Amino acid sequence: MVKKKQNPNRINYQEGIINDRLLQVRNASLSNDPQVKVVWTVNIRAQDSQQFIQFIRESVQDHDPIAFQHIKRIKKSEQEGILTVIVCSKTFVEQQDDFLELMKKSSLDYFDVTDRSIVPSAAPSTKELSLVWSTLYWPLVWRGNPNDQTMNEYVFDMPFIENMLGAISKEAARRAQNTTEQPIVSAFVNPKTKKVIYSTDSRCSSSPLDHSIMQGIRSVAASEHKRQMIEKEQTEDETYLCLNFDVYTTHEPCSMCAMALIHSRIKRCIFLQPMHRTGALESQSGDSYCIHNNHALNSKYEVFRWLGQEYPVPEIENDICC
Ligand SMILES: [Zn+2]
Repeated sequence: MVKKKQNPNRINYQEGIINDRLLQVRNASLSNDPQVKVVWTVNIRAQDSQQFIQFIRESVQDHDPIAFQHIKRIKKSEQEGILTVIVCSKTFVEQQDDFLELMKKSSLDYFDVTDRSIVPSAAPSTKELSLVWSTLYWPLVWRGNPNDQTMNEYVFDMPFIENMLGAISKEAARRAQNTTEQPIVSAFVNPKTKKVIYSTDSRCSSSPLDHSIMQGIRSVAASEHKRQMIEKEQTEDETYLCLNFDVYTTHEPCSMCAMALIHSRIKRCIFLQPMHRTGALESQSGDSYCIHNNHALNSKYEVFRWLGQEYPVPEIENDICC
């Protein structure tokens, strides 16, 4: 369970709101439909269960990419005195021959090897869901909503965040007054140096894809290139352009920009204005892709929407991709 009292932030775990201002933007469908994984199971005699658990702990647990903390390893079988044990995921050991080879190390008696059981790969968000999944798939252990832990681990520098949101809001208002371009503004913050790179939307008929996020990524690339030319080196973690950057933007990014942020490996995006038709982050936006939090993609980033009225953004047409 989460040690909630230690966190300096005011967290509304139920609503996913931090310090009354930052709404955690998540993929709503993920919490109700489990991603399932196939597991190898064997049947054992009840009196061997302790030794089996010890074998799994010593030889399997640390190597299996699926953490089974929310799953009961052992359940009763239909036969009296016989238990069914999950040994490991099929992600870890794919072929039966390899599985049998692994089991040889245990020198324990087992029978009925199968790969027919499936289990949810992540813990459910509510106790009710835990009971449903336990009936549908395999008995689970309820340890509380895993997202509570995630929220508890967020670190926020609220004065800095407000400063950034104030700056992009002001610049967007200025652009709405003085230019014919879309008043969409972003800021990219380097986590190590805190250097800020601002970018603005500059799409035109000859370059319609110059959204502020794309411009920002380009500017970070140019600045990095310059720095590397001077320092004549590239360290390993600089392979990704915006590794662990925080990105602030006035309007919810479109799918192209949201995807570009995935490729750049940013850590967090905070935006001010949801774009219900063209946005690609909120569950209610666009085609509900929630690109930052999508199982089909191998990378993720955190997303928050600012809920306060302190940093207004100029209105733009609702079918504009930002
Ligand atoms: Zn865009």
